[in-house]
Amino acid sequence: MRDLDELFEAFRRSEFRSKFRLSPRESAYLREKGLDVVLSHARDFIEKRLAPAEPANDGRQTPMHNHPVFIAQHATATCCRGCLQKWHQIPKGRPLSDREVQYVVAVIARWLLRQQTL
Ligand SMILES: [Zn+2]
Repeated sequence: MRDLDELFEAFRRSEFRSKFRLSPRESAYLREKGLDVVLSHARDFIEKRLAPAEPANDGRQTPMHNHPVFIAQHATATCCRGCLQKWHQIPKGRPLSDREVQYVVAVIARWLLRQQTL
């Protein structure tokens, strides 16, 4: 787990990570549902698709479209266990702790909040 200011500075410098934006439809969904509801979906996705020691289809479990959380996951390298290990120093091969799940949700929340104010 990393310091969030430092982490977001690194995303800004990454050509790949910095190009993700919500589509108008994903933006509208976030506005209509509100951040709290969308973050409850984030927690659910993370617990099912990322938290197990060996997630199903790891590396391909996060779609590129259709939910604001999926876009946030690609933008913040919380899309799969390989990216979590590389960017967030959370090792693969073991389940995520509750604290790590909370950390991933906090990273996604910060990215989504910033999108709302752009
Ligand atoms: Zn990934």
